[in-house]
Amino acid sequence: MSRFLDKKHEALKPYTPGEQPQNVNLIKLNTNENPFPPGPKVIGALSDAESSKLNLYPDPEVGVLIKAASEYYGVPEGMIVAGNGSDELLAFSFMAFSGGGSVYFPDISYGFYRVYAEVFGASARLIALDDNLMINIEDYYNADGMIVIANPNAQTGTAVTRREIERVLKNNENNLVLIDEAYVDFGAESSLRLIDEYDNLLVIQTLSKARNLAGARVGMAFGSEEIIRDINRIKYSFNPYNLNRLSILAGAAAIRDREYFDGCIGKIKDTRKKFVEDMEGLGFSIVPSLANFVLAHHDKISGEEYYRALRSRNILVRHFSDERIKDYVRVTIGREDEMEALISATKELLGKGGIIHEKV
Ligand SMILES: *Cc1c(COP(=O)(O)O)cnc(C)c1O
Repeated sequence: MSRFLDKKHEALKPYTPGEQPQNVNLIKLNTNENPFPPGPKVIGALSDAESSKLNLYPDPEVGVLIKAASEYYGVPEGMIVAGNGSDELLAFSFMAFSGGGSVYFPDISYGFYRVYAEVFGASARLIALDDNLMINIEDYYNADGMIVIANPNAQTGTAVTRREIERVLKNNENNLVLIDEAYVDFGAESSLRLIDEYDNLLVIQTLSKARNLAGARVGMAFGSEEIIRDINRIKYSFNPYNLNRLSILAGAAAIRDREYFDGCIGKIKDTRKKFVEDMEGLGFSIVPSLANFVLAHHDKISGEEYYRALRSRNILVRHFSDERIKDYVRVTIGREDEMEALISATKELLGKGGIIHEKV
């Protein structure tokens, strides 16, 4: 730390991203990316013509992307704002709405919520998931501050229904309820259509997971025109040109290409189903997931040892040291051949009577 750092940031514990090794020989199942590349229409949209305009600033209103989202979701343009990844929109939202008060979210969820609460001076109020790692929705009624729920939840993949979200909204008329739908397209119910009826709802989505664009950094927030104006107030006080030219075009093309999107989602859901069956067949317990990842646990293998043993076989999954999920690993659903490779490696490990005694 330099002597110039603001004292209030001295204790800040930054978010730890999953490893991003640049080694192409790894099977990478650790950060919930889509295993399929962007569709041909996205590649086509990144034309030379646009690259040759990189000397000019991009559209601060992100017009073509907002228009594509507006048409796709049937939401007026004034109820949408785009961000440099949904992380930026989450940051803007915590900055705009947490107001130094309390922010409620599950004890096991996306690690950034805790970090943003800290950065923006709010108190993080962790609500424990139940013993099956599920959200008990009533725990979020009548809070006294902002509520953040990832649906499906991060790290666990479990989802709540739109009706349950609606009950949270009804029981928190004066609190902003932020629903982070990063994984919603893999099978959960979106709460997007509730934004007309509930002016305390903010829905945030990303193109990083279901739309094959993690590297482009594109997120979107949906809410009442007033909420969106508030987020724009922060955006224009911070970084008006928050999306670059290429990402704006890539994002718009990805949203418009329903066919490619449906194809990728279909494959990932099929692969998830088969992978869960295979893992259960090997004695793993799997938390029921509607996301593009699963949390897996085996009585004979510690989460950390399993992670390490897979890593030594060039398969990268994620292990979290949080007490409640340290016995698990989180596995992103990749291509079918990738999951088969993981299954064979796991069979080999278990065949040796567990990997606890194996030198890794
Ligand atoms: C991946 C993820 C994000 C971040 O998405 P970006 O758009 O890539 O910044 C946000 N929330 C959750 C729950 C995520 O898993």
